[in-house]
Amino acid sequence: MKNRKIIVANWKMNPKTDLEARTLFAATKRSAKICKKIDVVVCPPVLYAPFFKKTDSKNLFLGAQNIFWEQGGSYTGEVSAEMVSDIGASFAIIGHSERRAFGETDAMVSKKVLAALRSKITVILCIGEKERDASGAYYEFLKNQIRTSLFGVKGNSVKNILIAYEPVWAIGKSFKDAMKPAELYEMTIFIKKVFADLFGADVAHALQILYGGSVNFENAKSIVTEGQVDGFIIGRESVDPENFKKLLTVVNAI
Ligand code: PEP
Repeated sequence: MKNRKIIVANWKMNPKTDLEARTLFAATKRSAKICKKIDVVVCPPVLYAPFFKKTDSKNLFLGAQNIFWEQGGSYTGEVSAEMVSDIGASFAIIGHSERRAFGETDAMVSKKVLAALRSKITVILCIGEKERDASGAYYEFLKNQIRTSLFGVKGNSVKNILIAYEPVWAIGKSFKDAMKPAELYEMTIFIKKVFADLFGADVAHALQILYGGSVNFENAKSIVTEGQVDGFIIGRESVDPENFKKLLTVVNAI
């Protein structure tokens, strides 16, 4: 998918009913269909995933919002990478800040990353600092988060990992409080430097980085072009079909 922009729709725990999910999916599918230059990955609550089986769209993919690292057994409430792959998912969000807030550690995240890669699922690895401080401690925080979340991952697997840089302080905020594109560009350079140190320059060069945090159709263009990211992970606006269509249209036109 290199060079194509990627938009990940993280529906989170929405919508409330099966009927609404079908309607939202139909609208998303129509929007993706007219935006052929971009790839759209829809990550619904896993119980709505079977609707996606029937899609024949070439640029619409199914993703999970989370997976567990074991393949099966006594793990109440969990779903494995194999299970989500079997129902047609080819992507999985791993380490979203909302899961980390419930106690998911970098060590758990790394086990999930390895499990996803084993099942040929493309990982959307969420990283991001909770806050910014004048001394720049968030650089060290991010570096550690990347290293420990990727513990055990070999360089040749990184092509199956997308980094979703989501500064936690920018998620779910007013759209004018999304990260400034120039600052984002700096962060992409920093993230690539960390990858270069871990896996070498070629791997870092090929790395695809998405941004997430209060993106809508109005700020998307400047963030993606000036921030020089490969796409977005979208929360709220992904469950608003009209606004999501506008957002896809803006990115498709770049
Ligand atoms: C998110 O939670 O990943 C996210 C980007 O949310 P929002 O777009 O609503 O800020």
